[in-house]
Amino acid sequence: MAINNLAHDVLILGGGHAGVRATRELIRHQRPGERLDVALVSRDNVELWHGLMPQMLANTVQPEHVVVPLREVLPRVSIYVDEIREIDLEHRRVTIDQGTDGEELILTYRTLVLAIGSTIDLTRRSLQRRAPTRQELEQPTPDLDGR
Ligand SMILES: Cc1cc2nc3c(=O)[nH]c(=O)nc-3n(C[C@H](O)[C@H](O)[C@H](O)COP(=O)(O)OP(=O)(O)OC[C@H]3O[C@@H](n4cnc5c(N)ncnc54)[C@H](O)[C@@H]3O)c2cc1C
Repeated sequence: MAINNLAHDVLILGGGHAGVRATRELIRHQRPGERLDVALVSRDNVELWHGLMPQMLANTVQPEHVVVPLREVLPRVSIYVDEIREIDLEHRRVTIDQGTDGEELILTYRTLVLAIGSTIDLTRRSLQRRAPTRQELEQPTPDLDGR
């Protein structure tokens, strides 16, 4: 059930490299005296440096070195660590899931930035079995069908 409705000038969806860079540049280029109300939604409260994950697997860097806390690098930005459920471009609103008890929040915006990344397609040429994806920290160890 929708419990609230919050309006923002700019709503950025996704807290990966694209979302974080876009937010920082937007804040940096504000005109003097301008105070944009910027919000970012991401299911993770950190930006993950994928490029360092091989080193993490090799144990030359630790997991805490490949994550950047969003609230630290984006001060004065409203951060929603939630799942994006629906994007309604026509009515300029985004519905997010808050927690496990089914509560929803509706965010409205003047400008929307879509930076929710992409999904990896490993359906061809048995890639699924030979090339497991590694975009999350939860399963850092490769699982190659028991090999
Ligand atoms: C192992 C590995 C190594 C890499 N090495 C390099 C490298 O050396 N150099 C290089 O240039 N690139 C590298 N890349 C690629 C690079 O990491 C990606 O191109 C980059 O992360 C894409 O950034 P993005 O912001 O578009 O997407 P992402 O980083 O995927 O960010 C998307 C964000 O949106 C959030 N999100 C998505 N859907 C939802 C939803 N429904 N609700 C809430 N939040 C959501 C995600 O949680 C995430 O925070 C590597 C990638 C991998 C996997």
